[in-house]
Formats: sequence, C-alpha cells, structure tokens
Amino acid sequence: MSKFLRIQCDCGAQQTVFGAAKSTINCQSCGNELVSSTGGQAEVLCRVLEVFG
Ligand SMILES: [Zn+2]
Repeated sequence: MSKFLRIQCDCGAQQTVFGAAKSTINCQSCGNELVSSTGGQAEVLCRVLEVFG
C-alpha cells in the first residue's frame, strides 16, 4: 500500500501520512496514536478521510 492517506484523529486534527509508513505516527495535536506500523505494513487506527495515489 504505497498511497497517501488523509486521516483524522478523534480530536479533529487532520494530517496526511504515507500509507507505507515504517514508523508509528501520532497526532500532532493530542499525541494519540493514529498509525501503527506492524512489520512494514501501516495499520490505520483512526478515521480515513481520503486516499491519494
Ligand atoms: Zn488528536
């Protein structure tokens, strides 16, 4: 999955992340974990608003 995702945290903050992210991504606003990396495959834990690419 090599796409860009626009995701939204429960707190309302949005950010765009790479679908094949190799590290955990946290919300820039509240620090909640948004994307968990499991063996090179990103697992999105929050709401996906849009998929690019
Ligand atoms: Zn948040």
